[in-house]
Amino acid sequence: MLLNRSQLWAIAVRDSFVALLPLTIFGTAAVLLGNLPIPGWSEWLTRLLGTGWQAATQGVVQGTYGIFGLALAMVLSSQLARRMPVPQGEEPLLPLLAGISAMANFMLVLVVSEGPDIAALGHASMLLGIAVGIATPELLRALAARRSMRWMALGYESAPLFYHATRLTPAMVVAGLAAMLVAEAVVALPAPGTQWLSGLAPAINRWMDADWLLTSAAVLINQGLWFAGIHGGKVLDQLGPQVFGAPGAAFDPALAWRPLIDNFVLLGGTGATLGLMVALFIVAREGPHRRVAQMSVLPSIFNINELLIFGLPIALNPMFLLPFLLAPLALAWLSLAAVHAGLVPLHNVAVPWTTPPLLSGYLITGSWRGVALQAAGLLLSTLIYLPFARRVEAQRLRSQADALQSASEAIVAQGQRHVSSLRRNDEVGLIARGLFADLARDIGSPALALAFQPKHDRSGAAVGVEALLRWTHPRHGPIRADVAVTLAEDGDLIRRLGAWVLDEACARKAQWNALGLSRIRMAINVSPLQLLDPQLPAQLAFCLAQHRLSPGEIELEITESHAVPAGQGVDDNLGQIVAMGVTLAMDDFGMGYSSLLHLRRFPVHAIKIDGSLTRDVLHNPICGDIIATITAFGRAQQVEVVAEFVETAEQQEALAALGCDVFQGYLHSAPLPSAACVDYLLAHAPRVDDTVEVPVSGLT
Ligand code: C2E
Ligand code: CA
Ligand code: CA
Repeated sequence: MLLNRSQLWAIAVRDSFVALLPLTIFGTAAVLLGNLPIPGWSEWLTRLLGTGWQAATQGVVQGTYGIFGLALAMVLSSQLARRMPVPQGEEPLLPLLAGISAMANFMLVLVVSEGPDIAALGHASMLLGIAVGIATPELLRALAARRSMRWMALGYESAPLFYHATRLTPAMVVAGLAAMLVAEAVVALPAPGTQWLSGLAPAINRWMDADWLLTSAAVLINQGLWFAGIHGGKVLDQLGPQVFGAPGAAFDPALAWRPLIDNFVLLGGTGATLGLMVALFIVAREGPHRRVAQMSVLPSIFNINELLIFGLPIALNPMFLLPFLLAPLALAWLSLAAVHAGLVPLHNVAVPWTTPPLLSGYLITGSWRGVALQAAGLLLSTLIYLPFARRVEAQRLRSQADALQSASEAIVAQGQRHVSSLRRNDEVGLIARGLFADLARDIGSPALALAFQPKHDRSGAAVGVEALLRWTHPRHGPIRADVAVTLAEDGDLIRRLGAWVLDEACARKAQWNALGLSRIRMAINVSPLQLLDPQLPAQLAFCLAQHRLSPGEIELEITESHAVPAGQGVDDNLGQIVAMGVTLAMDDFGMGYSSLLHLRRFPVHAIKIDGSLTRDVLHNPICGDIIATITAFGRAQQVEVVAEFVETAEQQEALAALGCDVFQGYLHSAPLPSAACVDYLLAHAPRVDDTVEVPVSGLT
């Protein structure tokens, strides 16, 4: 998907908020600790920890929230550098250097505009952080592409970091000077005054109580700013007495009343996000959204919602814009209506902003009616957030499915040399490691099962089945068998998985035998890596004995798609297995590394022609020629030739004419669960007296 510039920016900003989550959580915890509205809390902490704890929590807040703007500029700049497309002929921008440049630019702007004030590094400078974080990499890239900026660059023979650092230095200097110039210009602009507001309230009051409009406007300003990641409360503080009643003043319908907004609108923090949290619990049964909701419970009770705003995130997330404006607005109107109708008394008492909703409603009204109003507000905001939370969760599930699918492709991708996806340092690696851990957990649980696909001979009778792994992941649903097997191979889990498959297939076969299906041969896939295990023959013998099977009932399919490791150990294993009477089949013959070579090493009983050859047999004469060669070889060596991926009757006819003996594919049946397979086999198994050859064309 190609993103335009502003989409790219928005995604990078959101990702940066998420990347800074550790800072947010650390800061939130400190704010919570320092502001718990429990009587005697701070005295108790002082007794426990000494007087230093207050300074310590303040220090944590300053070191986390207090540098958020600066950190945002750096992280955003490097995120954008990483994501920006690299035009043909240009060099990519090193994210590390883009981050360093943004740090310098942020500080340069501060030095020009406010003087080196440490308070300006934090949440107050969020907007600055975003602006610098976007402008820096854009500017750097444009500058660095110019020949005149490259005079310091070393040759490409130097160490890469050295090369990039020298290449970018002139551009970084110019970008820094530009940042200072812009800051100078902005400082020179006249500051916006709030004097013009003074006529507003009286004018409105002439035809209605001004608190309706003023409260709505204040709520919208607060929400809009927070949505952009800017601390709206600080801006409200500056709006002054023309809009808000003076601190400590009683409710006055001619002005907006801060305590009403704080206690009846911002339930759970800005955006009335307590409702969002509840909505998330309702729509997300599992996954990251539910985790975020769980983590938000404690802070949200105390009206601290940075985790939701920057973690979910809400900030700059277009899917949340509407309810983030609407829910608080609706709550403001609900509360104003209740107050104007005289339903809730309002006391003029100071309630700390961290007081939990419901309790604060009681404190500020001295009545259960305040509690009821807040409960109604919580319900209303939940209802408003609900459809949006549902959409966001549905979108998450969709993108999770997409990510899983492309990761699956990457996990099984076989290049010249297979590279384990478990070691990758990207989304594929993350998903691969997660799936791997889940697979290890699920072996032996009902999430893993075998399906069985019938094989038919020329007469149409079912003569065998192939056992195929089926993994139904508890959260993601069915996972491709080759993905599970490749992960197990990459992560050294294949012996455990293989042992389970072996035992499960033998156990099923024993059950089927009791139903009269002992003539059906059970084929089990074995990874080449399992062949290295010196225990394999003993394991196999144990399984056969335990389930009272005769060796001739079992066939091992050795896939050719991985190179079969060479070596005496493998050959010894295979020799022992064949000596036991278990037969071997060479799977995916014709596409692998050294099919013919292997035939010299292993005494195989059957060859399974690779599906890509049989699939194209009707349309590609070369495939037909290759198959004819394989079947001629099979006849000469008395090796059975199996065709898989047989999907149509014409295809089977062509394959039979080319000399294939056994057919497997959707034409006959897809892989079936054990019980269904038994029914199928009972209907299609050869009758003992049935010796007449039926022409292939009359089969299905
Ligand atoms: P395979 O051994 O070549 O298995 C044949 C695959 O083709 C199976 O995919 C089967 O479901 C699919 N198939 C069957 N008939 C048709 C058809 O008519 N058309 C098409 N297009 N496909 C058909 P599945 O079950 O997804 O397994 C994929 C691969 O995973 C297997 O390829 C095998 O290499 C591996 N695998 C599966 N189960 C096991 C296992 O228990 N152990 C090991 N080591 N590998 C396994
Ligand atoms: Ca197979
Ligand atoms: Ca195969």
